[in-house]
Amino acid sequence: MGNRSKTRSPSGATRWLKCGGSVRLIEQMKWESKGSIFTEEGSCAHKVAETLLKLPKSEHQHYLAAIVNSTGWTTFGKPEWESITIDKEMLEFVQIYVNIVFETKQDEGTMFIEDSLPLFYEPQADGTADAVIINSTPTGGHLHILDLKFGKGVKVYIGPQLEIYAINAIEKYEWAVEFELVTMHIIQPRLNHIVSKTINMQELAEIRDKIQKGADAAISPDAPFNPGVEQCRFCPGQTEGTCLALAEHNLASVGLDFDSLYEDKVSAEMPSLELLHDEEIRIILDNAPLIESWLSNLKKAVYDKLADNQNFPGYKLVEGKSNRRWIDEDEAYMLLSKHFDNEQILEEKLISPAKTDKLLKHESIDLIHEVQQQITKPKGKPTLVNESDPRESVHVNRSEEYANDFDNLN
Ligand code: SF4
Repeated sequence: MGNRSKTRSPSGATRWLKCGGSVRLIEQMKWESKGSIFTEEGSCAHKVAETLLKLPKSEHQHYLAAIVNSTGWTTFGKPEWESITIDKEMLEFVQIYVNIVFETKQDEGTMFIEDSLPLFYEPQADGTADAVIINSTPTGGHLHILDLKFGKGVKVYIGPQLEIYAINAIEKYEWAVEFELVTMHIIQPRLNHIVSKTINMQELAEIRDKIQKGADAAISPDAPFNPGVEQCRFCPGQTEGTCLALAEHNLASVGLDFDSLYEDKVSAEMPSLELLHDEEIRIILDNAPLIESWLSNLKKAVYDKLADNQNFPGYKLVEGKSNRRWIDEDEAYMLLSKHFDNEQILEEKLISPAKTDKLLKHESIDLIHEVQQQITKPKGKPTLVNESDPRESVHVNRSEEYANDFDNLN
């Protein structure tokens, strides 16, 4: 069996195909993934899914009942999952993925779960596909690659990661099956996001060619850096704040460079709105997600240094703002109630429609319908998004807006 590819993993393929320099940078950083509560939660959900897919369906209910409300540690013995609760919600989401995998497999089909696949561009390393299914059609084999995405931050679409798994799986099993089609599926149940894409062998061969070229280029000693929203989003060079190319790119997109910063010419050279053209403003806004997340990761990197008692020139940690609260609510109530009426000191609030959804889960359709009649959804505040956003654009009534602003001032 191979090893995990440290710098050209399938999950990072969007990054290293778009920014070959990232492979060199990550090597130089000697970066090791630290994991997070979200990655641990995702790994635990994958383990639940794997277990279900390997069990006969008749045992599912029994298994689910046995693990609900346990921790990942008590169920799988993994100490790092001690703080992950396998609650009903996680099981419901995992079940959506499990059902799709079972529905995809024909009775005579073959299914491989957590299938280890040698990487075609780095055969000494491998990647693991969540589920690989081989079905037969009258004209050839139909391969399915199914990927569970448990995150709920960003919708994930079919791209190089699944294409790499598809190519690897074809090459692993082509000795036994003459394949005709490949379908790649992403199941992201917490965002109700399920996408599939089918391609034929010719299309897959063209993709293989492109990825092979990109993989070779990424390990060339002078592979260029290419900052951009997609490739930088999860790159350690961005999350750890170490990438000079990204820093220069972000500064350049607001008309700055390190020289002007060193010479403290910032205020004199900062572009003002009067001087920027629409096209330049658009470029800055297009880069805003990248700049915002880069800045927050830079701040975190410096915070971590100072919190670990290391020095960082020019910065220190101070106590942040906090709100006053009662030391002991019961005692505070006893005191206040001697001087004021309950109406003056107690607040009662109806729960929100979102919280009501949970209460209604097992109620009758009639009651759910009746409650829904009581709910309205006011228009959301106009929000600036990129043109590619699928939501319809809205017309803003500026005079109403000014009136609201004025009311808020009073
Ligand atoms: S942060 Fe962006 S530009 Fe820098 S190495 Fe990573 S992907 Fe490339």
